[in-house]
Amino acid sequence: MLRQALLQMSKSDRVRHLVETAPVSRGVVHRFVPGADVDDAVRASSELVASHRLVTIDHLGEDVFDLAHARTTRDAYVTLLQHLSDAGLSADGRAEVSVKLSAVGQALEGDGEKIALEHAWDICQAAQQAGTTVTLDMEDHTTTDSTLSVLRDLRGDFPWVGAVLQAYLRRTEADCKDLSGNGSRVRLCKGAYDEPESVAFQSRDEVDRSYVRCTKVLMQGEGYPMLATHDPRLVDIGGALAVQAGRSQGSYEYQMLYGIRPDEQQRLADQGEKMRVYVPYGDDWYGYFMRRLAERPANTVFFLRALATK
Ligand code: FAD
Repeated sequence: MLRQALLQMSKSDRVRHLVETAPVSRGVVHRFVPGADVDDAVRASSELVASHRLVTIDHLGEDVFDLAHARTTRDAYVTLLQHLSDAGLSADGRAEVSVKLSAVGQALEGDGEKIALEHAWDICQAAQQAGTTVTLDMEDHTTTDSTLSVLRDLRGDFPWVGAVLQAYLRRTEADCKDLSGNGSRVRLCKGAYDEPESVAFQSRDEVDRSYVRCTKVLMQGEGYPMLATHDPRLVDIGGALAVQAGRSQGSYEYQMLYGIRPDEQQRLADQGEKMRVYVPYGDDWYGYFMRRLAERPANTVFFLRALATK
């Protein structure tokens, strides 16, 4: 129930204002978001790469409803990719970028999908010049078909573009089969939005079982599976399924979020696994932050305690 309430609050402008202006927020948010500027993103990425982790960087923002804002986000990604290239981080995909299509125009009325495709195409071209890749984040289920359609179009020109699939959606095992071919890159996560029973599994057990089925499909396929989870059981099962499918280290990767289970991230990297950290940066941290609170009640308690002691 707390999860649902927090996810609903993540869409409320009134709560957004309260949380964004609370004096303690920045300190707590800092645990999940290294900073607001491109330099903060590059600094955090350099540190991670120095410790043998890979990164994927997200310029924070979502649900953009005006064209000028969508263009600004596109430009921010192009600038970011230039900075990553200048810092020597993007070569060989050590630092790539993650893009939410709703931040580059998908949510615009009329031809939002077409605008998002054009902006994503520009970002992919900048990524190609920087020697790296792009992964499309997945948002709520009303956008899944549109995002997969943009993915298909982009892959015509940039076959290395990846996408996220969410194990909590009932459709995802079938989507994994569709996207398990040669060259495909799929980031599998549990899913972070508040979804109805008609489209999504509701219990933790069902979601975990779906995650395992989807991992099996991806590992047995010909693509490149990216297991995005902090769940220790699913990390272990993922490793076992990779061995069962005859895969060697490096033919798949693990992914975790910045600030979450950093010791486990380092342990996997030290074992020779590819371990990529999702690094968000920017001012528009509210939606991202609320989803992190929703995932773990202890984060909410920590945040409320910090509010109370101010
Ligand atoms: P959980 O069962 O939620 O967590 C397992 C354990 O991990 C917890 O017991 C705890 O120890 C730790 N943990 C998990 N979350 C937190 C937290 N917030 N704070 C502190 N500890 C925590 N979701 C989408 O819907 N679309 C996306 O595009 C997307 N991209 C993602 C990219 C990456 C790289 C990752 C790692 C996640 C992404 N997610 C995305 C979020 C994902 O769907 C889950 O909501 C999130 O990863 C929590 O699920 P879990 O698999 O870690 O398992």
